[in-house]
Amino acid sequence: MSAWKLSRIRNRYEFHQLLHREPDICLERRSALGRLFFSLRIESFDRSRIGSLHEATAAAAVDSCTFRSPEIVLILGESYDKHHAALYGYPLPTTPRLLRERSAGRLFPFTDVVSPANLTVSVMQSLFTMASRDQQTIWYDIPLFPALFRRAGYDTLMFDNQTTFALDDDVWDQEIGNFLYHPRLVPLLFTYCNPDRHRFDNELIADFDRQDTLRRNPFRLTIFHLMGQHIAYGERFPAQERYFTADSIPERSREGLLRNRNERRIIADYDNATRYNDRVVGEILDRFRQRDAIVVYLSDHGEEVFDYAHRNGRLHDPTLTADCCRHQYEIPFMIWMSDRYRQNHPDIAAAVARSVDRPYMTDDLPHLLLDLAGIRCDCYDPTRSVVNERFDPSRPRLLREEKIDYERIVRHP
Ligand SMILES: [Zn+2]
Repeated sequence: MSAWKLSRIRNRYEFHQLLHREPDICLERRSALGRLFFSLRIESFDRSRIGSLHEATAAAAVDSCTFRSPEIVLILGESYDKHHAALYGYPLPTTPRLLRERSAGRLFPFTDVVSPANLTVSVMQSLFTMASRDQQTIWYDIPLFPALFRRAGYDTLMFDNQTTFALDDDVWDQEIGNFLYHPRLVPLLFTYCNPDRHRFDNELIADFDRQDTLRRNPFRLTIFHLMGQHIAYGERFPAQERYFTADSIPERSREGLLRNRNERRIIADYDNATRYNDRVVGEILDRFRQRDAIVVYLSDHGEEVFDYAHRNGRLHDPTLTADCCRHQYEIPFMIWMSDRYRQNHPDIAAAVARSVDRPYMTDDLPHLLLDLAGIRCDCYDPTRSVVNERFDPSRPRLLREEKIDYERIVRHP
């Protein structure tokens, strides 16, 4: 029976599904020939994940590129609960710069975007692979999008404030969390990666400034990966940037939770980190004001900070509630365009403005970025680009490894 089932498996996805359904299948007694057959199947379906990722990414081909957005910037925030952003209606002034950009007509906050997971590592996988969660694929069998930009002719610059390169060689293959910087993958993905982490996010901008003067290619994808509002919040902003204290925070949350003084002190630190983040993002935008540039800014996932329960961080409860989705999975997501960009690309500017209320999940982010660049390739799907006229709003948004339908939780709790 087992041999028959295994012989009918066509790919690694089906193999993993079978192991998930019938974990004991590996333990069943079988003949020597059966065992050999089984181990060969495992071997063929479960090679090193980095090996698969490298193979898929190295083989990725680009059909054409119009370079319609010469300069594309992706800012990846961290642990940002959009319900603590004044931009999204929070009563305290946590986002003065973003609000100014919105008033000037340069910034378009999207209202209905969620993250597929609440762990940085699994979100990073979803953000960088061309695979999406509602497809029957495994993410590391599908190319990573920066390789497509490189192949098309863009420079790809990565400024990451979360990664250390001090890993032993033998850690790499087990440590899929650092997949982006694996020595075999880096040359396929990035023209440049910053070597250092910094105490505060704004120091990444100095790294960018140094590289900026060295690069001659007019076509560029620049990625900033910030430390953002990651726990511990009090360490995410310099002391002179402190703006809120426990006294600034209302005793009762908007959800009606009565919070003690210590909880309000922690909330003040989170809101200070959010306000400092607003400054960092504003300074990144300053670098691109005079250029033909478009910026996509989102957080990897949200965070809870004593909003509806006496807890903060990200909890991995067995059941997902609407409250948990609201704070941990709903994320800030916005597109900024310089004045010059909006003049040069009125069609894209209009498409962005039209799209702000569309339901989106960020595992489809690479399709948006390829669309903005005008890159065409086998794995690009315009129905997954949130600003495209062919965008499909009916795609299910499946959260976590269990693939829980977000709509089902928040609309019909
Ligand atoms: Zn994270």
